[in-house]
Amino acid sequence: MDTLRDHLLARIHATGPLTVADYMSDCLLHPTLGYYSTRDPFGKAGDFTTAPEISQMFGEMLGLCLAQTWIEQGRPARFALTELGPGRGTLTADVLRVGRAVAGFVEAAEVHLVEASPTLREVQAASLSGHAPVWHDTVDTLPELPQFLLANEFLDALPIRQHVRDGTEWRERLVTADGDSLTFALSPPVPVPELAHHDVPDGTLVERCPGLPGLVASVADRVSGGGAAIFIDYGHWRSRGDTLQALRAHAPEDPLAHPGQADLTAHVDFEAVARAARPARVSLMTTQGVLLERLGITARAQALARGLTGAALDAHVTAHRRLTHPTKMGDLFKAMALVPPEAALPPGFDP
Ligand code: SAH
Repeated sequence: MDTLRDHLLARIHATGPLTVADYMSDCLLHPTLGYYSTRDPFGKAGDFTTAPEISQMFGEMLGLCLAQTWIEQGRPARFALTELGPGRGTLTADVLRVGRAVAGFVEAAEVHLVEASPTLREVQAASLSGHAPVWHDTVDTLPELPQFLLANEFLDALPIRQHVRDGTEWRERLVTADGDSLTFALSPPVPVPELAHHDVPDGTLVERCPGLPGLVASVADRVSGGGAAIFIDYGHWRSRGDTLQALRAHAPEDPLAHPGQADLTAHVDFEAVARAARPARVSLMTTQGVLLERLGITARAQALARGLTGAALDAHVTAHRRLTHPTKMGDLFKAMALVPPEAALPPGFDP
């Protein structure tokens, strides 16, 4: 059995159709055949690009935001600089580089990374060499230190389940086998207690991310002892229909077309994040464009532009626009911050 499709078909024949969450989980993180387990998917040659890979300015703005919060919280002498799903390690590397401008910040930081992919752990070891990162499989083993934590495009990789309203019950969207191909099907109607108060018209598809509340609650619990967590992802306040998306070589495709060879994501519901984060103090949801503007990205972009000409200048201007413009990543991507109940929110976030 050498492809993930064979593995999935065998699993379906043995135990029946899979939930979308089971399918996503195998596609992304199967130990030998999963998408993240087997490759470095970022950049031009890969399947998609993320904000830290577009420009160093993204990590610089978030780094200064965390450093300012660290100052406001009395400069704890030791803290965990934590990233969830660090990809190539670029974001944390940029935070540590810009953090050198703030006396004592880098010296106080212990780098912790939550990463499931052995392949990406190797890439992170190279980009963060000199900072002795400590890796974790889950947030539950993070140290009991003030947490200054970033998660960019991490929650969107957590497996979701999809439910379709049918009267007072729900049918679940499942992945099943049709000969040698994978196809979607609907389960018989069942009650879903988690969606008991979710009143939507018949036929509406609602997504839910079973792993999200526990993960956010665990982060919030740690942050309540000091620090801040910033989640950035694409999504809205509430689930709006089917957002399961596959990307391969920078183009969207059918999520069942190439299991294990395409990135699979779903939009994040920030209402679910906010709800799971209490009793930590939670900011309003802010768009990425507004957040980066408030943190001073345009002044930084102008300063960097002074040293550039020709194609490098054009690329820099395009990168700034991609990160902030409402028709690019500026509006679709949202940010939310968590701090201890009595603490001030990080700069750029509204109460
Ligand atoms: N934050 C990075 C990478 C985003 S891609 C960036 O902005 O460029 C998602 C990252 O989360 C990858 O590093 C992937 O391997 C990791 N990941 C996905 N699901 C995970 C899980 N359940 N546990 C730990 N890491 C996970």
